[in-house]
Formats: sequence, structure tokens, C-alpha cells
Amino acid sequence: MAVYNFSSGPGVLPDEVIKRAADEMQDWHGSGLSVMEMSHRSPEFISIANKAESDLRDLLQIPENYKVLYLQGGATGQFAAIPLNLAEENDVADYVITGTWSKKAYSEASKYIKSHIAADAVEYNKVPREKEWTLNKDAKYIHITSNETIEGVVFDSVPATGDIPLVADMSSVILSEPIDVSKYGVIYAGAQKNIGIAGVTIVIVREDLLGSAHRTTPSIWNWQAKAKAGSMVNTPPCYNWYLCGLVFEWLKDHGGITEIAKQNAQKAKLLYEAIDSSDLYNNNVAVANRSKMNVPFTLNKPGLDQEFIAQAKQVGLITLQGHRSVGGMRASIYNAMPVEGVEALVRFMNKFEEQNG
Ligand code: PMP
Repeated sequence: MAVYNFSSGPGVLPDEVIKRAADEMQDWHGSGLSVMEMSHRSPEFISIANKAESDLRDLLQIPENYKVLYLQGGATGQFAAIPLNLAEENDVADYVITGTWSKKAYSEASKYIKSHIAADAVEYNKVPREKEWTLNKDAKYIHITSNETIEGVVFDSVPATGDIPLVADMSSVILSEPIDVSKYGVIYAGAQKNIGIAGVTIVIVREDLLGSAHRTTPSIWNWQAKAKAGSMVNTPPCYNWYLCGLVFEWLKDHGGITEIAKQNAQKAKLLYEAIDSSDLYNNNVAVANRSKMNVPFTLNKPGLDQEFIAQAKQVGLITLQGHRSVGGMRASIYNAMPVEGVEALVRFMNKFEEQNG
């Protein structure tokens, strides 16, 4: 039986990537070494790192004046690293709250600087309109969470922030559709959803934003120091980095971001249509802000939640429970989820409704 994993992260990886990692695990390209036991300074690992960098730059069309950093500590680590790299204690930064993760980013930043809530969607089912935001003209940056993984809320356009750098948490949406990197000051993302495996966090930062880190910033999170050292201030998460590289190659071999974006749109359409045309399932996110990566839904008969999850599991549809803070269901349909997985889920949902609706 095929198993389809709808986990929000660590999420599904492409079968081909897992197979290739398995094939190369004991002996990487005839080196007699596993990537897991290679020195990060060895020519072999440097070639892996360089290839990953050029493939990512190619996929996202990253302009020359941006650095790509591989860090540890997850996106949560960056919640602290962002204020520490971009602002001083008395500086202000604006945060737009659209869900759980942007709220957390805001709270963490408040430990270090004067973070300010520019807008708060409160019910987390839409992105507040830009003209309703209260922005500080001297803010050091404006922070958004491009895609809220728990609530399934996505920005449908890039906010215009003028000269103030836009900082975006793209953990659950990066590489799923084309983006214009030049509109952002900083893009960051944990790898465990659309990039690779847990343990590495990617930061894409415009060069002119380097060099303002607060003096207490830990060296391993000092973006400028990291950039200078090719992300090797200390031992990087080498295997995780390699895995990211395999995913980048897989994406390129399958037509790159434009092609994957088409498939993502098709998968999301199938699932939202199934939800909207049913009397049992419900998603209350404003249509324009519905995430194509994380699709939360509730059952009009919540007593059936556990039954839904148990029966889905029996037919190989796993990790469909919503985040523990919100309950209900959530199907994360990242790049590596084949359309067949979403079709199987829709068939199951229809049948479950026939039997229980
Ligand atoms: N931001 C978003 C949008 C997320 O989805 C997550 C994790 N699910 C995080 C931040 C936190 O990431 P990490 O666990 O890598 O610290």
C-alpha cells in the first residue's frame, strides 16, 4: 500500500532523493567515505556545498548581492538572530501577525529590541490589508511570515515596504513557487519542509544588511561572520546541507520552480474544491490567502475527528491531524507530495462523507 505523508514538518521528501541518499550513503562518489564522516573542509564536501549553492541560486534566481547562509537553531533561532543582526536595543521593528509563527517571531524579538505589532489578524484567517497596517517610519525592518504553517494563511502579494527591509519567514513556502528575491532584505526558512531535513536553516540576506549586528550576537548567528566564513564559523550540519543539495537537484531535474508551482496549484485546487463542495468539511481562510502548502480543515461533526484520522491511516494517508494548538485536520502538501497523494486523500474524504455525513 502506498503511504502518503501529510506531515507539516519534518515533511515528505521526494522518493528519488531518499533513494539517492541511500545509494550514496556508504560511499560518496567513489571517495570511500560517507558524507556523514567527511571533514567540512575537505574538497569533497566543499564541492557538495558549492553545488548546492549554485543550484539554489539558479532555482530562486538569487541576485549577486545576496548571500546564502546555512545555519543551525531552526527558524526559531532566527527569531532571535534577526533583531540581533539588524537592530540595537532601542530600535523598533514592525511585525505583521497572521498566525502562530509570526506571533512567536514577534515575542522572541521583543527580548532584544522594541518590536511593534503593525497589524494583527487576530483570528488568523486572513492577511490584514496593507493600508490598515500601522508602520513606524524609522523601523529597522518589517517582518512577515509568508505562509503560516498552522493556520494555512499565505500572503498573496509581497508588501511594498519602500526603503525598509522586508524580512520574511518562508519556512513552509520556499521553493514552492517563483519569488522575486530582490523585494526582500532577508528570507529565512527551516529546511524540514520544502528544502531538506531538520537541522539546517537557510538565510538569504542582502549584503548591505550585513555588519550591523549587536555586539552580543552569538558568532554562530552573526550573519556577517557566517557569510565571511562560507557558513563555516564552526562545523556546519554537513549531512543536512548535502540533503538540501539533493533536493535542489531533484527540483531542477523536474523543471524547476515554475513546473513545481503548476503542480502545487493543481494539488491545492483539488483539495480546496473537495472541501468547498462538501457539507462535512470546512476551511475558513479568506480565499485569496489560502495556503497551497498547508490546508487545514475541520469537520462539521468534530466528534468524528479521531475516526477520520484512524480510517485515513488505514488506507495509508498519514499525519493528517491539525496542530495540537488548533485541532481539526491539516494536510501539508509540499513539493514532494505527488498529485496521486492528494487524489487519494480526496477520494477518501468523499467516501468518509458518504458514510458519515
Ligand atoms: N516558522 C514557521 C512558518 C514554521 O512553520 C516553523 C516550524 N513549523 C517555524 C517557524 C519554527 O521552525 P523550527 O522548528 O525550525 O525552529
